[in-house]
Amino acid sequence: SLRARDELIQAAKLAALGQMAAGIVHEVNQPVSAIRSYAENARLLLDRGRLDLVRSNLDEIAELTERMAKITRQLKTFARKSSGILAPVSPRAVVEHALGLLSAQTNDLGAEIVFELPEMAPLVMADEARLEQVLVNLLRNALDAVSARNHRLITVSLGEDEEHVLLSVRDSGPGIDAEDLPRLFDPFFTTKEVGEGLGLGLSISYGIVQGFGGRIWAANHPDGGAVFTVALRRAPEAEKTPSSPSS
Ligand code: ADP
Repeated sequence: SLRARDELIQAAKLAALGQMAAGIVHEVNQPVSAIRSYAENARLLLDRGRLDLVRSNLDEIAELTERMAKITRQLKTFARKSSGILAPVSPRAVVEHALGLLSAQTNDLGAEIVFELPEMAPLVMADEARLEQVLVNLLRNALDAVSARNHRLITVSLGEDEEHVLLSVRDSGPGIDAEDLPRLFDPFFTTKEVGEGLGLGLSISYGIVQGFGGRIWAANHPDGGAVFTVALRRAPEAEKTPSSPSS
């Protein structure tokens, strides 16, 4: 029944919330206790007149609070409610904008980004800002993945199947371990160092794409590297779009 299904969905949401709370506690506890010991240390050093060391403790504290600010910034985007309003969006424009946002990082790494998008791509049903967030997450991960390689290539391409527009981001990084594939989209799943990754990017992206009625998945390319694909619903042809808000 619908009610039983709703209850299952609620239970799954609560489980995800519990997992997320545990993750936040883990991420926040570590810097908080480090800040406490740096502060206690600074007090002792101040009594001994070691101002140079007081300063370096304060620097550490500032850095740790910046890390915590990063955590709350990411949580804010996680908690942000979508308007739920989907409109026809140009995937090409979204990709171009996302690439622009990451151009400094791309240049710093000397990474090459190949853009395999046809001139005339169909529009997709999405919320532009949120789709851009998904692409930024995928591209940022791809940049991380290629950063330790000599060959730093990211290929963004656009294709179609019967109903969907398929956007994919492929990289020349090390690819994904088979055992990690099923957990990749879980909140707080990360293989990055503490402070480097929160493991929220893909779970946020997953929720966003689901909200569009689309799908997102990951795979390893047979020639190496990871490929993330986002399948989005094609926007209805302009002349068929009803003007009533009930569409
Ligand atoms: P974060 O980047 O903070 O770790 P994400 O949710 O974006 O969080 O990614 C989760 C994990 O998925 C990463 O830690 C990494 O192990 C894996 N991953 C994501 N993108 C790639 C990629 N392009 N290549 C290899 N592994 C990836």
